Amino acid sequence: MILDCAIIGGGPAGLTAGLYTTRGGLENVVMFEKGMPGGQITNSSEIENYPGVTGEITGMDLMIPWPAQCQKFGLVHEMKNVTCVSKSGDIFTIHTEDGETTEAHSVIIGTGSSPRRVGFTGEDELFGKGVSTCATCDGFFYKGKEVVVIGGGDTALEEALYLAKICSKVYIVHRRDTFRSAPNTIKRIENTENIELVLDSTPDEVYGDNMGVTGIRVIHKDGESRDIEVPGVFTFVGNDVNSETLMQVDGKFLCEMNELGQVKVDLTMRTSVPGLFATGDMRQDAPKQVVSAAGDGAVAALSAISYVDELLN
Ligand code: FAD
Ligand code: NAP
Repeated sequence: MILDCAIIGGGPAGLTAGLYTTRGGLENVVMFEKGMPGGQITNSSEIENYPGVTGEITGMDLMIPWPAQCQKFGLVHEMKNVTCVSKSGDIFTIHTEDGETTEAHSVIIGTGSSPRRVGFTGEDELFGKGVSTCATCDGFFYKGKEVVVIGGGDTALEEALYLAKICSKVYIVHRRDTFRSAPNTIKRIENTENIELVLDSTPDEVYGDNMGVTGIRVIHKDGESRDIEVPGVFTFVGNDVNSETLMQVDGKFLCEMNELGQVKVDLTMRTSVPGLFATGDMRQDAPKQVVSAAGDGAVAALSAISYVDELLN
C-alpha cells in the first residue's frame, strides 16, 4: 500500500498536519514520531502565548489532547525513528531505523530542532550528571539548592523563572548585558528576588566529582574569572534544525536548504521537491512558536491534499 501522506515528526507542526490531512479527505496517513507525540514544547514548564489558552499551563498540558484529536479522524501514529526520506519518480520512500520502508505519494516533514551545546569544558562529560537542557525534567533534583542557567533568550529566561520557584537561587550567566527575550519576561526576571544576573560572562568550565557537578567557572569580558558553586547547570543557548532525514546517500539534501541549514519553502510550505512539504522550526524564517508550527502544519496539509488530488486524478 502506498500512503497518501507520510508525516515525519509529531510536534505541533506534524500533529496539525495530521489533523488537516485526515479531516481533509486523505486516506492512509501515517505520522512517524520516534517518541511520544507533542514535540519540544512538552519540555516547557509554562506556555502563556498560545491563543485562547489562559492560566498557568505547562507545555505538556497543552499538547496532551492533540494526538487523540487527530486519531479521531484516522491518523495513525507509528513510533519509529525515520532515518531517511528519499524519492524515486513520484514515490517517496520512508526508511526507518528498524530497517523497514514505507511508500507515500506525499511527505510533510516537521522534525523540529534540538538543544545546542554551549561548548565549555566538562559540558559533555557531566551531561546528565548536573548539566541539563530541561528544567521541567531535572529542576526538581535541585529543590532548595542553587543552580546556574546559561543563555539570554526566551527559553533561558522562562526556564530560570521556573527554576526560581523550586531552587533557593538561580544565577543567569549571559554573554552580553542585554537579553533577546520578550520584554515582559525580562521584567519578571528583574522582579524575582532569588535570581542573580551574571552578565557579560561566558562559561569556561564545569567541574565536579563522582557524584556530579559541584561548580562552574565563568569568565567576565574583562578577563576576571568567578567560580559559582552549584550542583546544577542548565544550558539554553538555542537549537539546531533536525534535518538528517533529508540527507541522501550521495551526501546531498533531498531538497534545497538555506545557508543556516533550514529547509527552503514557499508560502504554501512547498519545498523544491514536488510533494515534499516542510513545516515548523525546521523551515526557513520559522518564528519558532507553537502557534506558527501548527499554522505551518495546516498550510502544508492543504497543499498536500491538492498535490495528491492532482497526482492521482
Ligand atoms: P518539535 O516540537 O521540535 O517537534 C518535532 C518532533 O519530531 C519531535 O517530537 C521529535 O521527536 C520528532 N522527530 C525528530 N526527528 C525525528 C525522526 N528522525 N523520526 C521521527 N520523529 C522525529 N513556543 C511558544 O510558542 N511558546 C512558548 O512558550 C515556548 N516555550 C518553549 C520552551 C522551551 C523549553 C522550548 C525548547 C521551546 C519553546 N517554544 C515555545 C518553541 C516551540 O516548542 C517550538 O517552536 C515548536 O515545538 C516547534 O514545533 P515543531 O513541530 O516544528 O517541532
Ligand atoms: P535563542 O533565542 O537563539 O537564544 C539563545 C541564547 O543563548 C542567546 O541569548 C545567545 O546569546 C545565547 N548563546 C548562544 N550560543 C551561546 C554560547 N555558545 N555561549 C553562551 N551563550 C550563547 O534560543 P531560545 O531562547 O532557545 O529560543 C529559540 C526560539 O524559540 C526563539 O525564536 C524564541 O523566541 C522561541 N521561544 C519562544 C518562547 C515564547 O514565545 N515564550 C519561549 C521559548 C522559546 P546572544 O543573545 O548573545 O546571541
